Amino acid sequence: MSVIPINKPSITNLEIEYVNDAIKNGWGENCYNYINKFEKLFSNHIGTNYAVATSSCTGAIHLSLLALGIGPGDQVIVPELTWVATVEPVLYLGAEPIIVDVEKDTWCIDPRSIEEAITNKTKAIIVVHLYGNVCQMDEIMKIANKHNLKVLEDSAEGIGSKFDSKRVGSIGDLGVFSFHGTKTVTTGEGGMIVTNSEKFAKKIRILNNHGRNPEDPDHSVYWMRNYGYKYKISNIQAAIGCAQTERINELIEKKIKIFNWYKELLGHLPVKLNPKPAKGENGFWLPTIIDMRENYYCVEEVISKAKTKKIDLRPFFSPLSSLPFLTNKNNKVAYSLSTRGINLPSFHDITYKQCKDVVKFLDQFF
Ligand SMILES: *Cc1c(COP(=O)(O)O)cnc(C)c1O
Repeated sequence: MSVIPINKPSITNLEIEYVNDAIKNGWGENCYNYINKFEKLFSNHIGTNYAVATSSCTGAIHLSLLALGIGPGDQVIVPELTWVATVEPVLYLGAEPIIVDVEKDTWCIDPRSIEEAITNKTKAIIVVHLYGNVCQMDEIMKIANKHNLKVLEDSAEGIGSKFDSKRVGSIGDLGVFSFHGTKTVTTGEGGMIVTNSEKFAKKIRILNNHGRNPEDPDHSVYWMRNYGYKYKISNIQAAIGCAQTERINELIEKKIKIFNWYKELLGHLPVKLNPKPAKGENGFWLPTIIDMRENYYCVEEVISKAKTKKIDLRPFFSPLSSLPFLTNKNNKVAYSLSTRGINLPSFHDITYKQCKDVVKFLDQFF
């Protein structure tokens, strides 16, 4: 029996055709063709005026925080439950992450905890649409506007998710996405920043090009006023991204179908799955169960036993504040979810039979 992986991309002849074209013809005057097309396709899908492709979502977050002017002495509010990449760029910039609790129903940042954490040093809030679940964007934007804070939506896991009728990533000042090989849309490694602000889009393009500003009166190819960074994606990776974005509705529909299979198959167990937002949609990047019993299973035991059955399960993220380089916080909801949560295999090509095998395996722990 082969391994049931947690995630892997869906690659078709379209991706192969575009990559072949990029590798044969995407040089010289054509060296940005797929990058430009990828940015257009993606911003059209998300519904923003601008998109800038990057080499990773981590780099996209770094550039976003730079564009927002975050630096030493500033505080940035982040949720307790997320991948470490959400917070690392805050540390790169010498700013202070303020880690707040999540909601028990959405598993996403709790608007009340945000409000309680605001000080006169707070500059921005990074919200994370965890596993495809959707943050309470109306309340969050209200708080941000009231306190004059910027909002960055870490939508790395939010392809296919909507708050109301808007796609996540398009609601805050800036949104970022990941195209890592485990995500719903992939380029192998890659990321994207989306925004409706021309000012931020321009600033980010300059920052991502070593500080070179095409409007600089002193502009020459090798002269720049300020230093910058470089988190560019390659044309070859962007070719994969073009094919994936042309197939994006199919990729999202498959994720939703897999979630619904699990929902049906897990109906008899005392577990909670990713919630659907009251208004909007969940793209269900990663179906996840939370054991609702008082004496819940030991996550480590379930996962190590699964490995012997060649089923790749993952634990919920460790609370950020439990990491040795961050400051411990008493964020009770997040710590509780983290000890009860397990992510389920959900690559696009998983079969109903494989989902059934996963659930049959889980049955023994209840
Ligand atoms: C995957 C992920 C990232 C980082 O993406 P990379 O493209 O690997 O840099 C950031 N935030 C969240 C929430 C993620 O899941």
